[in-house]
Formats: sequence, C-alpha cells, structure tokens
Amino acid sequence: MAMDWFWKAMGTSPKKNQKKSRAVVAQASAERFAGVDDDALRAAAREAVRTSNGQPDYPALLAALREAVNRTLDVQPFDVQMEGTHRLLHGDIVEMATGEGKTLTGAMATVGYALRGQRVHVITVNSYLAGRDDAWMGPLFDFFGLSHGAIHEDLDADQRRDIYRRDVIFGAINEIGFDVLRDQLITRREDQVRTPADVAVIDEADSVMVDEALVPLVLAGSEPSPAPTSEITRMVKTMEEDEHFQISADHRNIYLTDTGASYAEKYLGVESLYGSEEHGGGDLLVQINVALHAEHLLARDVHYIVRDGKVALIDGSRGRVAELQRWPDGLQAAVEAKEGLDVTDGGRILDQITIQALVGMYPHKCGMTGTAIAASDQFRQFYDLKVSAIDPNVPTQRFDEADRIYATLEERDQAVIRHIIEVQKTGQPQLIGTQDVAESERLADALVLEGVESNVLNAKNHEAEAAIIAEAGRPGRVTVSTQMAGRGTDIKLGGMNEEERSVVVDAGGLHVVGVGRFRSTRLDNQLRGRAGRQGDPGSSVFFLSLEDDMIAAGGSDQELHATPDEDGLLAQKRVLQFVDHCQRVTEGQLLDIHATTWKYNKLIKDQRDIIAARRDDLLDTDAAWKHLSRVHGNKADELAERVDQEVLEQAAREIMLYHLDFEWSEHLAYLDDIRESIHLRAIARESPIDEFHRMSIAAFADLAERAVARAEETFAEVHIDADGAHLENLGLQKPSATWTYMVNDNPLSADGRSVRNSIARMFK
Ligand code: ADP
Ligand code: MG
Repeated sequence: MAMDWFWKAMGTSPKKNQKKSRAVVAQASAERFAGVDDDALRAAAREAVRTSNGQPDYPALLAALREAVNRTLDVQPFDVQMEGTHRLLHGDIVEMATGEGKTLTGAMATVGYALRGQRVHVITVNSYLAGRDDAWMGPLFDFFGLSHGAIHEDLDADQRRDIYRRDVIFGAINEIGFDVLRDQLITRREDQVRTPADVAVIDEADSVMVDEALVPLVLAGSEPSPAPTSEITRMVKTMEEDEHFQISADHRNIYLTDTGASYAEKYLGVESLYGSEEHGGGDLLVQINVALHAEHLLARDVHYIVRDGKVALIDGSRGRVAELQRWPDGLQAAVEAKEGLDVTDGGRILDQITIQALVGMYPHKCGMTGTAIAASDQFRQFYDLKVSAIDPNVPTQRFDEADRIYATLEERDQAVIRHIIEVQKTGQPQLIGTQDVAESERLADALVLEGVESNVLNAKNHEAEAAIIAEAGRPGRVTVSTQMAGRGTDIKLGGMNEEERSVVVDAGGLHVVGVGRFRSTRLDNQLRGRAGRQGDPGSSVFFLSLEDDMIAAGGSDQELHATPDEDGLLAQKRVLQFVDHCQRVTEGQLLDIHATTWKYNKLIKDQRDIIAARRDDLLDTDAAWKHLSRVHGNKADELAERVDQEVLEQAAREIMLYHLDFEWSEHLAYLDDIRESIHLRAIARESPIDEFHRMSIAAFADLAERAVARAEETFAEVHIDADGAHLENLGLQKPSATWTYMVNDNPLSADGRSVRNSIARMFK
C-alpha cells in the first residue's frame, strides 16, 4: 500500500487493528444465535453492551447483529462488514471499497451505539441518501425497538424536532448544521429543534470531513449587500490582463496594476480609487476587485452555471451543482451582475459554522469511505481519528492501466475520444470522469459528432443522479461525469438485469476513464473505485496532458524534457514520475491551506462555543432577570407589582439574548473584515494568524461587556407589560426573514481559488 511508509514512520499501521478485529469477528459466528427467538436475540444484544468494564462483549454483540440483519434485511453480513462494524464501534474511520456494503456496516455500528443508550446521527452526503438509507436499514432498527428517521429540507420545525428526539437520525451534514444555526436564535428552550446526539457515524467521511470541512454554513437575515455598479461591471469587461490587472500563477488572486487603476479612475470619472466617495465610497476598490474576479477568474460552466435566471455554484470537489451555496456577498452580486441577472440579497450574517466545527461538536465520531487512507493525515490532524483499512470481501480484479500522458490538451482529448470509441465496440460500459462541467459537456458534444451517445452527469438533482448512476453499468453505456458525482450510489453491472450482467462481465466489466488527474490521488482513487466492485471485473485508465491544471499547479518548480512517440504519447518513466511529483505538490498545498484556514476557523469556533454556552445559561436560568433587576432595581420593583414574574424573566431573557446575538453578528462581520485585510500581511511574510488572534480576541473581550451594557440600557427604556418586552418599539427587531446557505469559499475545492484572498490582495 502506498502509504505504508508513512504509517511505519508513525509507528502504527492501518492494518494493525485488523488482526484484532478479525479475531473478534471469528468468535461472532452466525450460528451462535441462529436458534434463539427474536426476544432472546434482542436480550442478548442488550446484555452484550451492558458490561461491567464499560467495554461491550463484542463477539456476542456482533453475533447478535449478524443474526438480526439476517432476519430483518434478508442478507448475511460478510465478515469484512463485521470487521468494519467493530472498527466503527472503536471510533475509527474505516476504508472499505465502493460496493462493499458500507451502509449496512454503518447501520450495524449505529445499533451497537444506540443499544448503549447513545443517540446517533448517521451523516450522509445528501438528503436523498439520508431518506434512502433510513428506509433501507429501518427494519434493523425496528427489530431492536430503536426509533429512527431522516431529516430533509421539506420538513417543518415540529417534524424535525420530533425526528431529532429519536434514537437514530439520518441527515445530510448541511441540513443538520442549519438546524444548529437556527437553534441559535431561539428565545425559549421549547423552541429548540435539535436534540444533541452523542455519536456521528459519517458516511463518505473524506468528502464530508476533508473536502467540505471548511465550507461555512451561514444563517442570514434580511439586509442588502453591496454590488458593483453596472458601470463597473461594464468597465471590467474592457480591461486587459497584464495591462490593467494581473492574475497570480495559481489563479487565485487578481489585482489591479497601476495602469489599471488610472484606467478605472478615468473610466469612472473619479479623482482617485482610494477613498473616493463616489460609487459607495471606500467600497469602490472592493467593487472593482470583485467585478474583476467575477469576470476573469470565474467562468460560466466551470465554476457556476446559470439556471432559471440564477447563478448556481459548482462544487469543485464533487463537480456538481452545490445547492444552496453562494460566494461571499460582494462576489455573488458581482457574478450576478456579470450575467445580467437580478442581484440577490445576501443579508446580514447572524451566525455561521464550518462543517469541521460541526463535526467537532459530536463527542464520538466514526466514519466510512472508499478512500480514507490517503486522507489519514487530515483525519488525524483535524479530528484526532485513526484510519482502519478493511480488505474487500472478494479480492478486487480491477485492472488499472498505466496513465497515458500527452504533451497538449488537444492530443489528450483526441486520444480520449478514440479510446472511448474503441472500448464501446467491446460492449463495456464506461464511466468518464472529467474535471468540470464545461469539460464534461465539451466531451459529450465531441462524442456525439463521432456517433457516441452519452449520459452527462453534472447538474442534476440527487435522485436523478442516482438513477443515471444506477443505469451506468449497462452494456455499451457511456456516462460522462464530473468528479465525484453520485457518491453513495452503486454502479451495478448490467443495471438490474441478470442477462445483461453476464454480457457486461464477459466484456470486462465497467471501464473507468479519468480525464486528467485530480489534485489528490484520493480523488483519483475514488473515481477508479467505481469499477471492479465486489470482485467484479473492471478496469481504469487516466489520460493526462502536460497542460492539465494539476500539472500547472504542482509542476511550476520543475522542468521536464521528454519526446513523444508517433501517437503523441509521452511514454517515458520520467514523465510519470514528474506527474506523481506534481500531484504530491498539489496534495501538500491542499493540506497547508486546510491547516491554515482551520486555524482561523478554530478561533471563531471557540468564540462561538462561548457564546453558545452563554446563550444556554440565559435560556435555562433567570440570570438575565437577576442581572437586569439588580442594575435597575426601581424599575424592577415597579414592574413586579403589575406583571407576572414569569413574563418578566422572559422579557429580561429576550433583551439579553437580543443584544448578545446582535453583538455576535457584528463580531462575525468584523472578523471577516480583519481576515480579509490581514491576508495582505501574509504576503509580507508576517504572521497573519497571530495578528488575527490578537485582534479577534481583543474584540471578543469587549463583546460580552457591550452586550450587557446595551441590554441594561434597553431594559431601562423598554415598555414591558403582560405581553412581555416591546422591543419592536425601540427598533430592536430580529430580522424579518432568515435563510441559510453554504458559502463557497472553500480554498480546498479542486479549482483551488480562494475568493477571500483575492479580495484582500487588492489592498496591498
Ligand atoms: P458502499 O456504500 O460500500 O458503496 P452499499 O452500502 O451502497 O455499498 O451497498 C452496495 C450493495 O451491496 C447494495 O446493493 C447492498 O444491498 C449490497 N450488499 C451490502 N451488504 C451485502 C451483503 N452482506 N450481502 C449481499 N449484498 C450486500
Ligand atoms: Mg455508500
């Protein structure tokens, strides 16, 4: 295994625990409970988790689970699934290949946890899978008398509240995260929707915990956002690269040149871009920058698509439309302006949390994915979790061909098309993995010209996506997909048809074609892993060119001399080594960015925890009334004569919470500002994170004091009667509407472009 050297260096091995788990599973034989009735089986499972030393009797528990699955789901769990369950119950991230049955493995572990009285959230990559898996695994939970349900976007607060109280809850991480945020607005405990869980069992763990880790989930309330004027939007279309602006080599940053600045001043008729009062005053520079960014760094059909008059972002790591995601306000507005669409209201950010922080809220976590080992570093560094490898049930027969590397993109694409045509003649179904939506469509169009029909998988909803993936294994089928589209859905050879299956098996199974390597081998392997599931035949091959993005991003420090053969192929070993080198560089870059960005987010998370604890205290005690009535004793005495104590306590609570929430929202805006401005110093090689810490801690220290002082003022002024505190009379209303979204500011996305950095860069 490629990572073995690493594990040796760390003095551990992902296989170390394999032996232990195997031994335990060997004792958990299917026969052990075969003869007992259902009640006795349930009792045995409950007994197995109720042990004096705190450790379950694993052989008994696993044997009971195995038998229960057999009775309820009509399948016999494989030993490797039992091993996976055992590792999950130890809090590991398990690597099990695609099609090995991770859903069942996770469900068995979930029962193990739930029988111990722990509430479990099973986290899926989308709501469709949450519903599917809940329904699929439901009979197993029912057998043990465990209540269960799935959270999805169509449920109202009461329905969600009910589901969160159950023993086992399936849900997409963003859905659960939005509830965490919304619960941060309540002023009465009984309005809380979520019941905290003890354990998170995370499916597709690398996607959620690594690729999406830094995506902030945002709760916003109505308030307008600054958009570039249409004049600026028009102006940037007339500006030329290198003359008026420069784009950094990594395509992350864009900045005005001096010529560009004078050009803009002339175009807009302002004296100076710096500190001009026109066009929204000091925002002018920011507006120009976001407009430039929108125009020259964000490409339609690569980074976003326009659908139903709206900009829909494309998720870089999954190559699909990222529902509910937006860029930071100014940039979102700039892209909308560029496309001539209505500029949407970004709103005031009331609260936010990254997925990494969200996952961190669970006291216990474990997870499963087809590609964990290549992300062991991240799991250890960011979550303190270990990775365990589980062997496939049937040894894999997939044949991975050597990469085919060409000098130019054009040669690469020609070769891909020739290859697809050749393979189609054999009847093998093919899954083509491309880097972005535009590329997938270009390829599909080119294939049509050659008489090859294909299904394109990119901007569909999850259900339609699942249906296409489910059909992708039929004879001669060509499915062009963007990266990880359709994670969680199986490609069965021959679809559902037994006869077709044997046709496809004879033809060699599913053939995966990668167009360009991704920025990490993990993502490459995720794509490859689609073929050869459960011992099926299958094969994979990647087509690359030296002009690929990944090579450009990772190879800038090296030169390569190679000679193509007559097909344009660069077959020398040296070339492959160069490509591997480039990918190691990009992997390192991603890890660095993750680590740095997390340092910022960690601090925000710590501060949010303090706010949340303070909120809990205000919600659950009469601390607010105690404080305010002490400070304004006369008013308190007067009120006590005519208003019920309960009403007064609630009034005081609402006053305190209002100001706490308001100050927190202000603080978040301030953190955003300093984070943006501070990136400049990164360029000067100062330590921006230290500076950020210093400034944000100083600001946070004032926050609580200011919130309390404001609450005291409000208490003195506000009219309170039997209906409570009339905050609206003082203009202290909560936002009339709130909504949630995910900010696509993820510097780890495959295109690697961080929006914030570039906005910041222009203040250099
Ligand atoms: P993964 O998430 O690991 O890719 P899934 O959980 O989606 O895999 O399961 C893939 C397929 O394998 C499903 O059709 C499922 O019914 C089947 N499967 C899982 N476990 C078993 C088993 N023990 N015996 C037979 N089929 C199984
Ligand atoms: Mg799965």
